[in-house]
Amino acid sequence: MSHSPTVATNLTMTIGGAAVSGRSSFEVVNPTDEALIAYAPECTREQLDHAVLAARTAARTWAAVPFAQRRRLLHEMADVIDAHVDELGRLVTAEQGKPSAVAAAEVAGLAYWLRETAALTLPETVNEDSGERLSVTRRVPLGVVAAITPWNYPMGQLSFKLGPALLAGNTVVVKPSAFTPLSTLRLGELLRDVLPAGVLTVVSGSGDLGAWLSGHPGIDKVSFTGSTATGRAVMAGAAPTLTRITLELGGNDPAIVLPDVDVPSMAEKLFWAAFSNTGQICLAVKRVYIHADIYDELTRSLADYAATIRMGDPTQEGTQLGPISNRRQYETVLDLIEDCRRQGHTFLTGGTPAPRPGFFVPVTLVDNPPEESRIVREEQFGPVLPLLRFDDVDDVVARANAGEYALGASVWSADPDAALAIARRLDAGTVWVNEIMHLTPQVAFGGRKQSGIGVESGHEGLLEFTEAQTITVRRG
Ligand code: NDP
Repeated sequence: MSHSPTVATNLTMTIGGAAVSGRSSFEVVNPTDEALIAYAPECTREQLDHAVLAARTAARTWAAVPFAQRRRLLHEMADVIDAHVDELGRLVTAEQGKPSAVAAAEVAGLAYWLRETAALTLPETVNEDSGERLSVTRRVPLGVVAAITPWNYPMGQLSFKLGPALLAGNTVVVKPSAFTPLSTLRLGELLRDVLPAGVLTVVSGSGDLGAWLSGHPGIDKVSFTGSTATGRAVMAGAAPTLTRITLELGGNDPAIVLPDVDVPSMAEKLFWAAFSNTGQICLAVKRVYIHADIYDELTRSLADYAATIRMGDPTQEGTQLGPISNRRQYETVLDLIEDCRRQGHTFLTGGTPAPRPGFFVPVTLVDNPPEESRIVREEQFGPVLPLLRFDDVDDVVARANAGEYALGASVWSADPDAALAIARRLDAGTVWVNEIMHLTPQVAFGGRKQSGIGVESGHEGLLEFTEAQTITVRRG
């Protein structure tokens, strides 16, 4: 491991519209070669108190800024981001490990979501307009929103939080994952002069900062994306003050493949449905149920397709998959693979990490492990996929619906009606037929069961950053 940071040494937090350095710092490591690439500021409790106070002060004036002006500012933010796609993308690749082109698309996506979110509106309902009374229900902002994000999409995850929270009239305190703080810190620096002081705060830390922020009495709403275990802690921390929460948590999304699909094209679609971003997507396919009639052919085709994929240095042209994003997740995935080996499951491909620096795990396909095995029941969040055989629709629906998660699901068939009939029986926040992970700024998504509470994106996602207020005027 190298000891001199190679990417960024002096990124600052954004508090009350100003640059704030940490009193100490923590190390950020490049997952591709495990080199130290930067020191990020470690926010103290006192600095967080100051940040939340500044955000509360700004919230009063920000809520009174006309909606049209808030919209314009979202567009200005998008313009600034668009002008810095390459710079922010390089930081995402360095801290997270995804290929450069994919990282740039993630950054550009944040600008796109800001613009599209700006077109949303907040409803106002006239309940009564009579000689006796005028009664109107409107949506009011909550105050200060804590936006806590994970490491898989440091910029992309902000798409679902930043625009809607600000448009609704809240100020926002962002806390990125300690594994990937750099792009978010830089974003705060770039947007410092676009928004009034205190409207957008960015803090970073590697210890208890997430817990301090989500349990802070000055926070009115926590918008959290991360693991189900941490989601439970956030919910418990919010209870004393009845702080509002939206939780986007883990998933173990099933894909059900019917026997009438075109096998070669299905193999390619399935591969990317499971392995995009090296499998580190909450809505990625995490287990595949394949009809027995095509099981052998499709699994062989999937292994053949996997052999064509280039995994490696994400800054190199042509690399399709990068490493796992951090050592903690790398060890989690290796542990699951080791469990498969101990249980005697068969690998159709992969299964042995390459002897090289960096958190690289090869694409690993597990051949029909038992339903109760860890690789089927647990969320792997990495490039290892259990392939499971089925021959009865009722049985596969029951297996797909088992477990604590219910985030996404997909059904694949040449007969969309047959697929839709199965889709309607699946427990999941989103069920796709013949596609997957199609998300737009106009459409809400969220988890059922222990995959989350509430939704993000779309009109419903915007409403989650508001509360209903009814005003009644007695006439005459
Ligand atoms: P974690 O839950 O470990 O961390 C998520 C964020 O929460 C980080 O910023 C983390 O900070 C912070 N945090 C840690 N402890 C607390 C706490 N007590 N209170 C408040 N915040 C805290 O998740 P990962 O980063 O490991 O992300 C992977 C998980 O996220 C997977 O399970 C995945 O399914 C889920 N996910 C869900 C998505 C969805 O939309 N449903 C999308 C993407 C991922 P720090 O880094 O400093 O610990």
